[in-house]
Amino acid sequence: MNKDLKIFENSESEVRSYVRSFPTVFTKTKGYKMWNKEGKEYIDFFSGAGALNYGHNDDHMKEKLIEYITNDGITHSLDMASVAKATFLEKFQDVILKPRDLDYKMMFPGPTGTNTVESALKLARKVTGRTDIISFTNGFHGMTIGSLSVTGNSMKRKGAGIPLQNVVTMPYDNYVNDQDSLDYLERFLEDSGSGVAIPAAMILETVQGEGGINAASFEWLKKIEAVCKRWGILLIVDDVQAGIGRTGTFFSFEPAGIKPDIICLSKSLSGYGTPFAMTLVRPDIDKFAPGEHNGTFRGNNHAFVTAAAALDYWKDDTLENNIKIKSQKIIDFLEKMVEKYPEIKGEVRGRGFMVGVASEVDGLSNKIAAKAFELGLIMETSGPNDEVFKLFPALNIDDEGLNKGLDILEESIKSVVK
Ligand code: PMP
Repeated sequence: MNKDLKIFENSESEVRSYVRSFPTVFTKTKGYKMWNKEGKEYIDFFSGAGALNYGHNDDHMKEKLIEYITNDGITHSLDMASVAKATFLEKFQDVILKPRDLDYKMMFPGPTGTNTVESALKLARKVTGRTDIISFTNGFHGMTIGSLSVTGNSMKRKGAGIPLQNVVTMPYDNYVNDQDSLDYLERFLEDSGSGVAIPAAMILETVQGEGGINAASFEWLKKIEAVCKRWGILLIVDDVQAGIGRTGTFFSFEPAGIKPDIICLSKSLSGYGTPFAMTLVRPDIDKFAPGEHNGTFRGNNHAFVTAAAALDYWKDDTLENNIKIKSQKIIDFLEKMVEKYPEIKGEVRGRGFMVGVASEVDGLSNKIAAKAFELGLIMETSGPNDEVFKLFPALNIDDEGLNKGLDILEESIKSVVK
């Protein structure tokens, strides 16, 4: 064991995980590259689990942040009015919402993904006066008690004794062979004998990240929206991981042509890796009374500064085009890998820059990810049995970085399956 890792082993809780998957001490990072203490370079296809979509230490955001700090801008102010927040609110309206013909109120629920999910679930219950929530198999929404209760991962739930209280888990798209999961869902809703009360909300990811890069079809999403409308159920799209460009558009649901009632954003929203979350709420259901849902760290001003700067990348389609072109390249490459190395028994999954390969071979994806790390590529696995190796490059990665990463990936696959 690397002696620099001793401090983590001796002092940090056993719950630590990424220090185990990526056992080295990092010191420096720029764009899609990271370096450890020994100066070894890594290509980052992990992007902070989707929190660093613009790469590390982006110059434009850094410049704005340094300028703000140098001028003694407000750092902490709960939800008082600040210039940094005003700038973000205005820019988010102008660059993101208005051009997409979307109308939402912006709510800052606390710093993390789980905070936005909690606020969405609470608001849906308050607005509808109902209690139940429909969530989906293999969905992931966070680790606090409310968000964990709608998370379809029994390993994470059971240990903490979190039951599926007032939550009904339904099959995600493609989950049930030869059976449209929506027919199944509607049967439950129609059949009073099923015991399923009309829920307050449905919560879903358009592409499940932690659940194994399962991408719902646009048709399925449209039908889900229609079911929600028919039954007066609020649709919550958890875009914490799939949003902010990860699947190719700012919001992951854009190409499906749906308009959720509530949207959860976090991870890459601040652009710079600073904790930040926002819940978008349809104006007519913006029903929390003043202070009814609060938190000390609502809206970090440094995050407002970098998040506003990040929105400059959405003023034209350069970023979206880069994702489109390179996503196809990644998918073609992965298809080639699956064909060339049939030992993987793999299936390519995902959309945009949220892609992966599910291997039927027990433990193989973890072995490939571990080998990749040894060879200088950072990549994680997901899925109920860690059967998927995930490729999450920065959205602005150049050809050189992408090719380097893919070369290392092939080396790793070759070495593991030989
Ligand atoms: N929702 C989704 C879809 C996520 O992927 C995650 C985190 N992986 C969360 C919610 C929870 O976010 P956080 O870890 O910041 O609480």
